[in-house]
Amino acid sequence: MRTQLFIDGRWTDPVNKGQLDVINPATEQVIHVIPKGTAEDIELAVSAARRAFDKDGWPNTTGAQRGAYLRRIAELIRERSEMLARLEVLDNGKPLPEARWDIGDAAGCFEYYAGLAEQLDDTSVVDIAISDDRFRTRVRREAVGVVGGIIPWNYPLLMASWKVAPALAAGCTIVLKPAENTSLTALELGAIVQEAELPAGVLNIVTGLGAEAGQALVSHPQVDKLAFTGSGRIGSQIMAEAAKDIKRISLELGGKSPLIVFDDADIEGAVEWIMFGIFWNQGQVCSATSRVLVQDGVYDKLLTRLIEEAKKITLGDGLKEGVLLGPLVSKQQLDQVIAAVARAQEDGAQLVAGGHRPGEFSQGYFFQPTILTEVPLDSHAWKEEIFGPVVCVRRFTTESEALTLANDSRFGLAAAVMTQDNVRADRVSAALRAGIVWINCSQPTFTEAPWGGYKQSGIGRELGKWGLENYLETKQVTTYISRDPWGWYIK
Ligand code: NAP
Ligand code: MG
Repeated sequence: MRTQLFIDGRWTDPVNKGQLDVINPATEQVIHVIPKGTAEDIELAVSAARRAFDKDGWPNTTGAQRGAYLRRIAELIRERSEMLARLEVLDNGKPLPEARWDIGDAAGCFEYYAGLAEQLDDTSVVDIAISDDRFRTRVRREAVGVVGGIIPWNYPLLMASWKVAPALAAGCTIVLKPAENTSLTALELGAIVQEAELPAGVLNIVTGLGAEAGQALVSHPQVDKLAFTGSGRIGSQIMAEAAKDIKRISLELGGKSPLIVFDDADIEGAVEWIMFGIFWNQGQVCSATSRVLVQDGVYDKLLTRLIEEAKKITLGDGLKEGVLLGPLVSKQQLDQVIAAVARAQEDGAQLVAGGHRPGEFSQGYFFQPTILTEVPLDSHAWKEEIFGPVVCVRRFTTESEALTLANDSRFGLAAAVMTQDNVRADRVSAALRAGIVWINCSQPTFTEAPWGGYKQSGIGRELGKWGLENYLETKQVTTYISRDPWGWYIK
């Protein structure tokens, strides 16, 4: 495990020599220490990224050259995948099979953007038709510049990949600030790019606190673009800070995503997807379908089955075979979830499953899979993200009532619909105000498809070709090609 920052292609101690404990959330033990980078380290990292962009020629490499680095990074992630997956479990708590998916997806993300980098060689300069044949206009796509990437703790290496891969593909250089709770695999990414011989300064990794290292990166005048994933509260602060010098921003924020089950749905399938949608990754998922709306005719049956199955989920250390629900990431997160469930009950919600720290563990930030019903529409539990294994289930009668309930949120990241009626599925998916709609499923995520939210769930899209757009500027180059003088002043 790494103990230094990765700046300008080298491993280096933080200027202030500070450290942060790394805690295994399943055991509450300190398993390692990582550097606590501060504004001084961000300064060094941004100047390395600036030099790599402005002087060393990274943006002038061909897409094929950048693609080759990205493919090599993907290969090295795959070679080390078991080690990386286990680190992710120690740091974040998630079950090992889920961590293995994350690492596979991270490698896949680098491979996918390698392909898009290669395509840029054909598409980064194109002629466009204009209305005046005395001129010729070309459109060039160019890298935005130095990127500040700030990521959360729920999918550590995967969130790093969603920022780093498209940024490098576009020809940007980047300073990455991982979440203080989960920096181990981000630091391993430093070792990987070093082995891939990525030019110095192209990717820099500064671990530390959001309020110190993160804040310094956000306000740094030499950073051209900020790419942030995290809470709405910090996203809003970052947007305000970026407004001061008009930095480009993309924000991936939270959600309170609905899952609608109609009477004609396959009940067992719906129960499975509801559980996946809220208990996967301990419910610490921005797109978690945390509000479940069930039509009258199947409400009782579905709720009964959901409670039965939720109670069967095996909790435990994510490294143990057969565990489906690990600990929450931190004491702070556990306390927030406990407080949210208590507040829901004070507000009148009924607790029908879970709701407590399981008695069988003497340590670890575990929390039972929890189901709430009768949750008032104006309550915190119905309106705000809990970011834990807590689902609110509510009854509805008509399709239009379901849509009104689903869309009545300041968020709009995702939504899911369970029905066997394809016409209804189309109609409802068009009416949902969300960036992602899943039909007869919840949560599948594909590198090729756009990811991001409506309303207060964010700005911009990650993944797919949309993810590359975040890191590209658009330049028009217009040439006067007529042999006649322009003749405006000189007649
Ligand atoms: P957070 O507190 O917003 O933190 C996210 C990142 O921002 C962390 O690296 C954090 O550093 C850093 N940060 C904190 N304060 C900062 C500041 N003043 N300036 C610059 N950076 C700062 O969110 P979180 O608690 O880690 O993650 C949970 C939230 O993220 C949830 O609300 C969830 O919905 C959202 N999320 C969204 C997506 C998506 O794709 N839309 C994906 C995952 C998570 P520290 O680690 O030191 O706090
Ligand atoms: Mg940790």
